[in-house]
Parts: sequence; structure tokens; C-alpha cells
Amino acid sequence: MGRVTSLDDLPLRSDLRGQKPYGAPQAPLPVALNVNENTHPVPGEVADDILDSISLALRDVNRYPDREFTELREGFAEYLGHGLTRDQIWAANGSNEVLQHVLQAFAGPGRTAFGFGPTYSMYPLLTRGTGAAWVAGTRAHDYTLTPAGAAQQVADAAPDVVFLCAPNNPTGTPLGLDVIAAVYDATDGIVVVDEAYFEFAPRDERSALTLLPGRERLVVSRTMSKAFAFAGARVGYLAADPALIDALRLVRLPYHLSALTQAAASAALRHAPVMLGMVDEIVAQRDRLAATLDALGYEPHESWTNFVLFGGVGDPAETWQQLYDRGILIRDVGIPHHLRVTAGTEDETTAFLEALASIDSAA
Ligand SMILES: *Cc1c(COP(=O)(O)O)cnc(C)c1O
Repeated sequence: MGRVTSLDDLPLRSDLRGQKPYGAPQAPLPVALNVNENTHPVPGEVADDILDSISLALRDVNRYPDREFTELREGFAEYLGHGLTRDQIWAANGSNEVLQHVLQAFAGPGRTAFGFGPTYSMYPLLTRGTGAAWVAGTRAHDYTLTPAGAAQQVADAAPDVVFLCAPNNPTGTPLGLDVIAAVYDATDGIVVVDEAYFEFAPRDERSALTLLPGRERLVVSRTMSKAFAFAGARVGYLAADPALIDALRLVRLPYHLSALTQAAASAALRHAPVMLGMVDEIVAQRDRLAATLDALGYEPHESWTNFVLFGGVGDPAETWQQLYDRGILIRDVGIPHHLRVTAGTEDETTAFLEALASIDSAA
């Protein structure tokens, strides 16, 4: 028997041949501003309460957990407000798994999912994982979308699932509710509004949650990975019509949320105001990033998130490497002459800006 040396030697699904796995580099650098985490640790008093809840759950860990994660769904319904109840809530191990459930139920072989590029790199990966095809739409030069233009593209593509990232990753671009409503009316498919970064938008902004009544094909997803400082716990969730939630029950693994995850997330939610306490500070660092990048001769894009995409970089790969060599990890998202940086603590943000200023890589 020969030794297996590459994927080509395996009977891999033909539609997966040549695909690349998600690959944001993970490196133990002192300043990691590459995957839009909240870089502030969980406050001590909250960590203690989470730990108490996990210890309690551990005593029953010989039994399967509540398959319906009832307490956690109630917690998310209360956190989201807008009159939502637990039968309109779903959750999983990161919003990536939540989105995967949506695709498993509504995409799959012979079907298509659609998004306006550049957008979150996991959408095509998750789509192809279910055997569906990915169709990419386009944005204006400044990455914005108009209601009429977006609706036309969706009507032409006639996809089964549409992803609207609001605000958009990796560009930071806000998305108006008028665009979401127009896209919804232009399709018979499922429309997923990914609000992973909603907590960083201006305070008086309306969420797509306000569009849910009367729109039974609309899904609004959120995550605890960004504003909530809980990326390592892997918890994401969505709100939608109860019938749509029933569809997700058809594809999830039984007991997909462990008892420990449920306990940790429910405890963290009880402390939501403290967990979200650093959001204003992160937004201040984001705005400082944009102002300083501009002063350094780069072209930062408007951002309603906790990161800034900036253009005007002569050689992104070279600048990325020079920052890396100075202990600073940011993200080359593959857009020519652009790099993306997460807003960190004040010290981390300063370290990045000073290192960048010392490199002089503006085009
Ligand atoms: C980070 C991110 C997520 C979150 O993924 P999790 O699986 O919840 O960690 C979802 N959508 C977008 C657009 C993101 O940038």
C-alpha cells in the first residue's frame, strides 16, 4: 500500500477538489489584530460567574444536554428585544454553524447561494460544503449597494439563499434597511442578514430585526464572537420565523450545543452590559485608526464595525510581512492595494499605527 501524500490520492467529492480551507493565519504574535476579535479579556467578576455556571453543568455532564437549549434561547430573545420569543431563536457553535444550518436546510446540491463581493469569505466555503454553488454579485467602487441595483442583481441570479452582511466584512460598509427590504422583495429565497458587527454601528441605527414581522423568509444572525468578547466559546445565534427555526431542527446534529457551552453562554448573557462594556472604547480606537491612516496617506473606508479596511498600500503582502516582523498581525484579505486591521486596545492600536508609520508603504 502506498502512502497517501495528497488530497488527489483520496476519493474526495469532485466539487471539493481544488478548494482552499479557511486560512486566516494563527500566529502567537504580541499584537493580534487580524480576525476582528474583541481584544479586551472577559472581566474577572463575569469570568467567575461563568465558571460557577460551568461547574454546576459539569455535575450533570454524564447526561446529554437540553437539545432545545431553552434557557439560552430565552436569554438571546431577551437580549435582542423587539418582542422576540424563544421560538424565534436558534443558536449553534458560532454563527458559522448557524449559517451552515441555514444552508443545509435551504441550499444543498443543485441550488445556489448569493452574496455581494467582496464579502465574508466563509459564505462561499459554507455554501460549497453543502454541495450548492456560490454566485457572487458586485458592489459600487466604494463597496456600497443601492436598493434598486441590489434587487436587480438578486432577481437576475434567482438564488435560493442570499447573504447580506450588515455591516459588511471585510469592507466595514454599512447596509441600509431599504436595501434589505428591496432584496427580500426581489427573491423567493431565504435572505440572511449577518449582523455579526451590529453592536459597533451607531447607537441609533435600526437592526434588520425590525424587518422580521411579516417576512417569514428573513433571517437575522448575530454572534458572541465580536462585541461580546466570547470568540473562544463559539456561540452564534439567529432570529427568524418559528417555521424557519423548525427547518433548522431537520439538519442540526442532536445535542449540538454542549451543556458547558450552554451554561457559559447563558451566564455571559446575564452580564451582557459588562461584556459589552468595551464597545465604546473599541469604536473610539476604530475612529482613531481611520483618522491616523488617512493622515499617513492611506485610504481608510467608512466602517461601522470593529475594523478598518484601508487602501493605498503599495504592496500589501510586503507591508503585512513587515508588520509581522514587528510582532503585529493584521489581515491581507486579497483586495489589491488593501489591508484590514482590527481596532484593539489603545496600546495595541498605538503599536500598529507606530509600526505602520515606520514602514512607509503608502502607494
Ligand atoms: C466573525 C464573523 C462571524 C462570526 O463567526 P463565529 O462563527 O460566530 O465566530 C460571522 N459573520 C461575519 C461576517 C464575521 O465577520
